[in-house]
Amino acid sequence: MTDSSQPEAHFGVTIQGLRKAFGSNEVLKGVDLEVRPGEVVCLIGPSGSGKSTLLRCVNLLEAPSGGSVQVGGREVTDPDVDIDELRRHVGMVFQQFNLFPHLTVLENCTVAQIKVLRRGREEAQRVARENLAKVGLADFDERYPDQLSGGQQQRVAIARSLSMDPHLMLFDEPTSALDPETVGDVLAIMRALARDGMTMLVVTHEMEFARVVADRVVFMDGGVVVEEGPAEQVISAPQTPRMQDFLKRVI
Ligand code: ADP
Ligand code: MG
Repeated sequence: MTDSSQPEAHFGVTIQGLRKAFGSNEVLKGVDLEVRPGEVVCLIGPSGSGKSTLLRCVNLLEAPSGGSVQVGGREVTDPDVDIDELRRHVGMVFQQFNLFPHLTVLENCTVAQIKVLRRGREEAQRVARENLAKVGLADFDERYPDQLSGGQQQRVAIARSLSMDPHLMLFDEPTSALDPETVGDVLAIMRALARDGMTMLVVTHEMEFARVVADRVVFMDGGVVVEEGPAEQVISAPQTPRMQDFLKRVI
C-alpha cells in the first residue's frame, strides 16, 4: 500500500483462490479476479452467487477463509496490515445508501474526514463541497437525507466516499434500490469517475452500463467465476450456457 503522500495513486486488486464459508455454507469456492489500477470491472451474476461477499472480502468487512486478496500490492489478510488504513483508501457504496439520517448532507460528507483523516472542519467542508458539486448537489449542503430522492441520497453517498480520497471504489448494486428515473444520474456520475481514472469494482445488473463503461466483465455463479472478458464480448457473445441463461433473464 502506498503512503498518504501519494493521494493520486490508484490501487489495483488481485484476488487468487479466494474462499469464504459461513459455517458449512461455502459461498466463495476459489475465486480469481484482477482489477488493474485505473480499470473498471463489473461483477455480475445471479442473486446468492457471492458477489457481495467477494466485495466485502476486499475491504475486510468479511474475513476470507482462504486464498489471497491483494489491494494496492498489499495482502489484506497479512496480520501486519492496518485495517483502518486499508479501509481509508477503499471507498464503498452500497445499495442502501447508509447516510446518517440526523446529519445534514454536508455533515454526512465531513464527519469521517474529521474523525478518520483528522482534517480540520474548514478543509473537510471545502473537500465535501467540491465532491458534492461533482455529483451535481452543490446547493444541498443543509438538507437532510429524508428530504432527498433515492438517487440524490446515493449521489451524497458517492460524494462522501470521494471525500476520503479513495484509491479504489467498490460499488455493490448502487442503483438497485433507486426509482428508475434516478438511476441514470447515478450511472452518469460513476461513468465520469471511471473516465477520471478511478479503479472501480462494480456489482451491477445494469448491462448497458457494464457494456459501455466496464473494461472487463466478470460473471460469477455458485461461488466461482464462470466467464470473464472484455465487456462487449461477455455481454454480446457469451461463451457459457450459464452466462447465456443469465443474460436472458436480466436483459
Ligand atoms: P450476492 O451478492 O451475489 O447476491 P451474497 O454474497 O450476498 O450473494 O451471498 C451469497 C451467500 O452467502 C448467500 O447464500 C448468503 O445467504 C450467504 N451469506 C452472505 N453473508 C452472510 C453472512 N454474514 N452470514 C451467513 N451467510 C451469509
Ligand atoms: Mg449482493
